[in-house]
Amino acid sequence: ETTPSPYKRVLLKLSGEVFGGGKVGVDPDVVQSIARQIAEALWATGTQIAVVVGGGNFFRGAELKHRGMEQTRGDYMGMLGTVMNCLALQDFLEKQGVETRVQTAITMAQVAEPYIPRRAIRHLEKGRVVIFGAGVGMPFFTTDTTAAQRALEIDAEVVLIAKQGVDGIYDSDPKTNPGAYRFDTIDPREFLVRGLKVIDAAAVSLCGDNSMPMLAFGMETEGNIGRAIAGEKIGTLVSR
Ligand code: UDP
Repeated sequence: ETTPSPYKRVLLKLSGEVFGGGKVGVDPDVVQSIARQIAEALWATGTQIAVVVGGGNFFRGAELKHRGMEQTRGDYMGMLGTVMNCLALQDFLEKQGVETRVQTAITMAQVAEPYIPRRAIRHLEKGRVVIFGAGVGMPFFTTDTTAAQRALEIDAEVVLIAKQGVDGIYDSDPKTNPGAYRFDTIDPREFLVRGLKVIDAAAVSLCGDNSMPMLAFGMETEGNIGRAIAGEKIGTLVSR
């Protein structure tokens, strides 16, 4: 018995901060809760789910650069961090009885499949959750941009961006401006002109150019992953 979702295939982006529960490293309790939400959404809707995982709970190239490292080497460390998050999510999804595959943009045959888009689509069609790790495999990119690129290449219908600490896109920082206004919907061009945050500009630009909608929503409310996958109107929709 499945409840309808408007989506046949979605790309869910989980930022690294979600995995760490606010700290460095992986918090297994948090990952277990995320895995349960994904599993329940999968069974409730039958929607095909691909996941792009961030790595900010381990390393960010830009931060390492500020502390004296080469940006490119720091970026590779960042990409490797995302793979640890992928393996944690894979483990808890499989414990929920969900079949999964991890595909990485940097080959590491003992740990994961290489990124092969057509194979990823086959996995999704068989009901497996596909988890993409190591970003796009190139320094100077982010996992938001990865989410946009993967969504386009595997022909997903929407990019669902789960955020920690913010429940949508505002006209100014709601942490410093209590009067900040949250958009229900915003055109990607307006997002870029206003220089808004929460999603990377490169990702918004890529999705905007290719008519790929993005939904940014907060993780604080339990069950929001399921709501986003079911097409409920939460957070902010970036769409033309
Ligand atoms: N990164 C990269 N290329 C990519 C994806 C990620 O160089 O295609 C690096 C970059 O240093 C980034 C880090 O990996 O800061 C972690 O990714 P991100 O910051 O996107 O993670 P999130 O903010 O989602 O936790």
